[in-house]
Amino acid sequence: MNRLRKILIIEDEQDIARIIKDYINKNGYEATIANNGRDALHDIELLNPAFIILDIMLPDIDGIELCRQIREKNNVPILILSARGSDTDKVLGLGFGADDYMTKPFSLTELLARIKSNLRRVESMSMISSQPKPSEHEDILHMGKITIDKKGYKVTKEDKEISLSAKELELLFFLSKHRNQVFTKSQLLDAVWGYTAYGDESTITVYIRRIREKLELDASNPEYIKTVWGIGYKFSYDE
Ligand code: CA
Repeated sequence: MNRLRKILIIEDEQDIARIIKDYINKNGYEATIANNGRDALHDIELLNPAFIILDIMLPDIDGIELCRQIREKNNVPILILSARGSDTDKVLGLGFGADDYMTKPFSLTELLARIKSNLRRVESMSMISSQPKPSEHEDILHMGKITIDKKGYKVTKEDKEISLSAKELELLFFLSKHRNQVFTKSQLLDAVWGYTAYGDESTITVYIRRIREKLELDASNPEYIKTVWGIGYKFSYDE
């Protein structure tokens, strides 16, 4: 089974979990259900899913805490489901490592669209990285203390791996791939999130801040991700 078809649904409400599972499977994926956080962590080790749907209200652990625990070891895209009408940016922006967010009740069609959109990007990244490149050096950017390995899907700082969520990695890779080119928030949202329904440009601000905090020596005086006032952001580094 292609790894990119494997989806883990972490949800204790049996009816909802089954409806999601049936719908996803009907659309060519292979979904597995975990009813609680403990089973979920076990299933992730066992199955190595390509995408995780995580309900925030679980019997044994808070979904946010579980998200954090998953993210410590794994950069699999995580979509959080919540019955609470919380602000999207709050959930995505607080550093739990979630990549996407939907409020219950939600449409299955929309859920599927988001799964596809996330997996397409993971797939295109792995395809891009497996293509032969004219120069090996283009896959690995060495800049000061930071190394961005686009082939290995890894970022290191002074030889220590920096833990970035899937979306943080994608945003950083996108910017570093187009070194010195300026992008507006809307262009970045389009390039990395890929669907307009999401459409909140403050998400980019939040993600840029999170990447800078992990990457930069001084996040308020960035060496890599520069703010171009009035326009947006660019990735550049003065050798
Ligand atoms: Ca629940």
